[in-house]
Amino acid sequence: MSEEKLNFQAEVGRVLDIVVNSLYSDADIFLRELISNASDACDKLRYMGLMYPDLIADGAEFKININVEKSKNIITIADNGIGMNHDDLINNLGTIAKSGSLDFLNNLSGDVKKDSNLIGQFGVGFYSAFMVADKVEVRSRRAGEEQGWLWVSDGKGSFSISELQNVQRGTEIKLFLKKTSLEYADPMRLRQIIRQYSDHIAFPIYMDKEGSPEVVNSALALWTRNKAEITVDQYRDFYRHIAHAFDEPWLTLHYKAEGAIEYTGLLFIPEQPPFDLFQLDRKPAVKLYTNRVFISDDIPDLMPSYLRFVKGVIDTKDLPLNVSREMLQKTPVLEKVRKGLVRRLLAELKTKAKNNEDYAKFWNAMGKAFKEGIYEDTENRETIAQLSRFYSTSGNDLVSLDDYISKMKEGQNSIFYMTGENPEVMRNSPQLEGFEARGVEVLLFTDPIDEFWPQALPAYKDKNFKPVSMAGDELEKIKKSSEIEGEELSKTDLQSLIAYMKITFGNTLKDVRTTDKLVKSPVCLVAAEGDISLNLERMMRLHQQPLARESDRILEINPRHKLISKLAEALKDDTKKSLVADAAMLLLDQALVAEGEPVKNPAAFMQRITSFMLKGI
Ligand code: ADP
Ligand code: MG
Repeated sequence: MSEEKLNFQAEVGRVLDIVVNSLYSDADIFLRELISNASDACDKLRYMGLMYPDLIADGAEFKININVEKSKNIITIADNGIGMNHDDLINNLGTIAKSGSLDFLNNLSGDVKKDSNLIGQFGVGFYSAFMVADKVEVRSRRAGEEQGWLWVSDGKGSFSISELQNVQRGTEIKLFLKKTSLEYADPMRLRQIIRQYSDHIAFPIYMDKEGSPEVVNSALALWTRNKAEITVDQYRDFYRHIAHAFDEPWLTLHYKAEGAIEYTGLLFIPEQPPFDLFQLDRKPAVKLYTNRVFISDDIPDLMPSYLRFVKGVIDTKDLPLNVSREMLQKTPVLEKVRKGLVRRLLAELKTKAKNNEDYAKFWNAMGKAFKEGIYEDTENRETIAQLSRFYSTSGNDLVSLDDYISKMKEGQNSIFYMTGENPEVMRNSPQLEGFEARGVEVLLFTDPIDEFWPQALPAYKDKNFKPVSMAGDELEKIKKSSEIEGEELSKTDLQSLIAYMKITFGNTLKDVRTTDKLVKSPVCLVAAEGDISLNLERMMRLHQQPLARESDRILEINPRHKLISKLAEALKDDTKKSLVADAAMLLLDQALVAEGEPVKNPAAFMQRITSFMLKGI
């Protein structure tokens, strides 16, 4: 077969363009990415070799060789891993199967340092070869197959593939260095980069030293070593290697579980939230090993979804080496490992939570995802709630539920909360006036998941969660800390006003009733008990989710407000009835606006406002 010429997928072309033209300043990472691929290829074949020994009949000692031809400015990175055949080369190096490249492009920030760190995370690591090379040749033969292949590209839109004889098992990548990257034709420089980025690769990386091969990395599975012998720097470097990251781990957890199931865990919580924290197609980030043999990095259930930001490795001896994918899904071992992991992580977070400032860093980065656990994890619900932090009306610091409970007022039995989008806006809501007057703290729930978890955990330490809209009687029982001005209307006046308002609103509202929640404002709007909250309704509309129906709304009025007593007074005068009706309509619009919603009929609203202004002037 002669040479075949193919074009890169359009997206790949764009990725290449950016990698080559904008991110070259952090070019060192090309070696980390290519070594990482070589190591993945060895991992894959070692695992497959357990089930199909024929595949590794020609050698089970996995290794990576790096060679420099200084005079020609060529570097070669070779592995004896799984290798690629004709179709693999096209699919893996010419197109991007997953949405990797698009995500990469969408997440570019323009900051070169940051953006080059993204390369490995998005599965576009191979293309970093073109940061330093103006031509790349890939020679590869897939384990178990006869035919070898040569892939060549200058990274400018197309590549070619042709058959090749006498190719070793695995993959050899030849980089023809650009004039501007000749610094990498120096073995010393390469050794330094390998030690910095790839020391923990579990396969030996060989380089030539005075004619004989020498292992450059420590090639040790870090997690198998004794904790006392591992330095903070080593942990950090390992974290960066497995997470393709450059930040510091916020938490490092290394332990051996003994008991029914034995395993070692080396887990990290990054400082920065991963880019795909809220993407459904994200890759799981904890790798599973058994007896140091890599098994898989995409076991979906090894970590519950609310802990998806945790990176690291788990190594257990309790799985047979030749475990198949189907078996992995069925075995109770993983379920037990997961339970243990979660318990350990939560315990560790409890300890870290004692330092508020440090814990706030974690919370701001991962809290939104972590809180989903209150909903998801039936078993650990209470603990997760205890570890959660919230905005509140009492200041800008995050508060815990335990803090909140310790500050509850006499007569208060519930944890009051309000849902919305922006704490600043929420703090000014009329709904909170009565709480403020009583010195009662209100938690401000601002994440979408906050609409849901209180159904799963209706109470914490025997205190019910209660939305402010349903505070009702309980609020009345709490003593006011500042006197609320104004006399309450007489019952009969109030009742006739409410009756008249109900007639005016017809069936646009479910009810009109008085409330103790308001101080400065005459009215506010709430959803009826059992209906979805106004905030959730707004969110659904924003995401164009079909609403079964709008929730029934209730207009609550402040019986001490001057305007309300004036309206009740006016109602006694027959000539003013239509004025009261107009005012009632305006009050309803005002309540909508206070909830951040549009008025129902802008033209009618304007007319009423105008006519009231005319009367006032
Ligand atoms: P990722 O490693 O995140 O998948 P890369 O761009 O680094 O993304 O590599 C793309 C794909 O190319 C890999 O998933 C793998 O299938 C293939 N590949 C790259 N290098 C090798 C190699 N040395 N041996 C076998 N396959 C490789
Ligand atoms: Mg890679």
